[in-house]
Amino acid sequence: MRLCSFHFIDFFERKVFDFIRKFKLIKRGESVLVAFSGGKDSLACLLSLRSIADEHGFNVSAYHIDLGINGYSYTMRKYVEEICGELGVTLHLTDLKEKYGFTVEEASKKRKRPVCSVCGIVKRYLMNRETRELGYNKLATGHNMDDMIEFAFKNWLNQEFEWLAKQKPLLPQLHPKVTPKIKPLFERTEKENAAYVTLKGFEYPLNECPNTYLSGWKEVASKIEEMKTGFKLMFIKSLEKFSYPLRQGDFKVCSLCGEPSSSEICAFCKVKTAKI
Ligand code: SF4
Ligand code: ZN
Repeated sequence: MRLCSFHFIDFFERKVFDFIRKFKLIKRGESVLVAFSGGKDSLACLLSLRSIADEHGFNVSAYHIDLGINGYSYTMRKYVEEICGELGVTLHLTDLKEKYGFTVEEASKKRKRPVCSVCGIVKRYLMNRETRELGYNKLATGHNMDDMIEFAFKNWLNQEFEWLAKQKPLLPQLHPKVTPKIKPLFERTEKENAAYVTLKGFEYPLNECPNTYLSGWKEVASKIEEMKTGFKLMFIKSLEKFSYPLRQGDFKVCSLCGEPSSSEICAFCKVKTAKI
């Protein structure tokens, strides 16, 4: 499809709106917290939800975690603060070092685990906890179609079927302390998100986290798409239907912080209390 700026923006927002309705991601009167890292996908998520919020009858705010990553976090935090100020969006912010006394890179060295693995633990923990404690109904993330295909390839090959089954547009509340998570851009591509924010008149930081690791799966999916047009969309629609029995009710609560955990002490507390 060839669209002018005006009609592309309209097309994109209508697609997001229809997707939210189709999968019942947000109910009227709910409050949604958008995980806003400052990247193009989270910006596309924030802007598109904000543009349809009134019509759909919900509220949108933003949440940012300053992970303390050298040469990266400072820029992203400044950008997020600037955009939220410009848009008049309420921003909730957690400074990891200030509040919990460590950065993800420091914790990675202490725990002797890859920094992205520690970062994932920290983000999942804080996003869930803050969304619930701040009184929001849903946490929205900017995961796009290309991200989801990459996750699916990796998890399928590692036989992580339960993890794969959780990669849905809506992950419902499996425990009273676990906030429902939504992915409104599940069927939007990385390119569409970049075009949308640019055509809306926003620039976004192009610097990537220095710990970024490229798995190569996105390129594989794009090669298949070149050979078989429509592959990505068909794949993502299959992922929406994929099911596998999820463990329910075997969440414990962490003996240190009281947050949901599958073991006596949660992964976040293990990271926080790690010694060199
Ligand atoms: Fe965190 Fe790794 Fe992403 Fe950097 S690349 S933000 S360390 S998950
Ligand atoms: Zn804990």
